[in-house]
Amino acid sequence: MASGDYVRRTAITRLAVSSEQAERLEATIDEYRIGANIATDIGWRHRVSEKHELQSLAYDEIRNRTPLGSQHAILACFQAAQAIKGVDERDSQGRAYSKPEFTAPTVRYDANTMTLFDDDTVSLATTDDRVRCELVLPDDEEGYQYQYLESDEWELAESTLTARDNDYFLHLGFRKPKPDTERSPAEDRIVLGVDLGIENLAVTSTAHFEGGQELIHEHREFERIRGNLQQTGTESAHRTILQRGNREERHSRDVIHRVSNRLLAQAVAYGCTHIAFEDLTHIRDSMPSKRKFHQWMHAKLVQYVEYKAAEIGIEVEYVDPRNTSKRCCECGHTSDSNRTERAFFECEKCGTTANADYNAAKNIGLRLVRRELHDSRRTGDSQLALKSGTVKPNRGFVSYSEQEVEVESTDKHHLNRSERASASCK
Ligand SMILES: [Zn+2]
Repeated sequence: MASGDYVRRTAITRLAVSSEQAERLEATIDEYRIGANIATDIGWRHRVSEKHELQSLAYDEIRNRTPLGSQHAILACFQAAQAIKGVDERDSQGRAYSKPEFTAPTVRYDANTMTLFDDDTVSLATTDDRVRCELVLPDDEEGYQYQYLESDEWELAESTLTARDNDYFLHLGFRKPKPDTERSPAEDRIVLGVDLGIENLAVTSTAHFEGGQELIHEHREFERIRGNLQQTGTESAHRTILQRGNREERHSRDVIHRVSNRLLAQAVAYGCTHIAFEDLTHIRDSMPSKRKFHQWMHAKLVQYVEYKAAEIGIEVEYVDPRNTSKRCCECGHTSDSNRTERAFFECEKCGTTANADYNAAKNIGLRLVRRELHDSRRTGDSQLALKSGTVKPNRGFVSYSEQEVEVESTDKHHLNRSERASASCK
């Protein structure tokens, strides 16, 4: 079967590793990077981008110069070949190119180097002995990973281990044969989750942040001026209020239009079929009146997104907003104390840290994904669009090598403190 004959999906899970296991994984990641760069050098020099050809050229050299096992040496060759092929394509398109370099802290796994067990543990080949560790999976049913892990339909395929901030994440690749008949595009659904808030006007599950603070500031300024003018009470003051009011509203609409365009651009870039918002009627009911301007902004934004989305065939749906800000999108643990500061989420159970609105955006998207999965009239697959590359344009799967040639460190899922600050005040 050609690779195009499969539907491919990725499930991301953190691994629980001991310090000794971490050491081994770290060493494997380092050596794998060295191996992939050795293969790239050789392939580049000989102008070889066919994977088996590159394997025959570079395999011995990798085995001699690194402690990588045979299968990891082969995977490094294949990945280097793919990277070189990508460069050749750039070259043939007349675009700028240079020799690819593997810099990301990642290592590839396949069925020969990795075994998944029913008790949600995985065994991974390293440069030393294999390590067997636990997958840190969501503890509630909303964990999207289960639809692949617990299914006989999905088969484990090429996967990637990534190190980030002393944590290890396994991007488990799954595949299943494409059905004979071509699926209608509506059946494989990809959801962009969007959180609407105060700190950030909107945050997406793909880690796109829209601040909106400027607008709020301008509105307050307008309110202040209006208050002063109202006190003078003259006819001309009244006219000025109307004029400024109109201008202010036009400007606000304009800004929100642009925000809605950027949200749609995210949906398009990640091949989304659906955009999930919180159900706003709930927000309206519970929001104190001093937050009226936020309500107005949120309502406008949703309205603009809805009609623009309809024009390009993306559906907007609404989910129950309960607990979306208290639930950990990683493990599903829901608690008031998960949210320690307004802009910062830290799961008391699994220790996941994230920008609070970003965590909420993922929960909102997951809620729609979950709803879609329970809809018995549907046969397609639903999944959440994430920054980390689970889902790429055209609703397809982009092989990891393409991501790894670029440093794969753009996932805001685990923000460090300075990033967190910049993300929340953007
Ligand atoms: Zn958690």
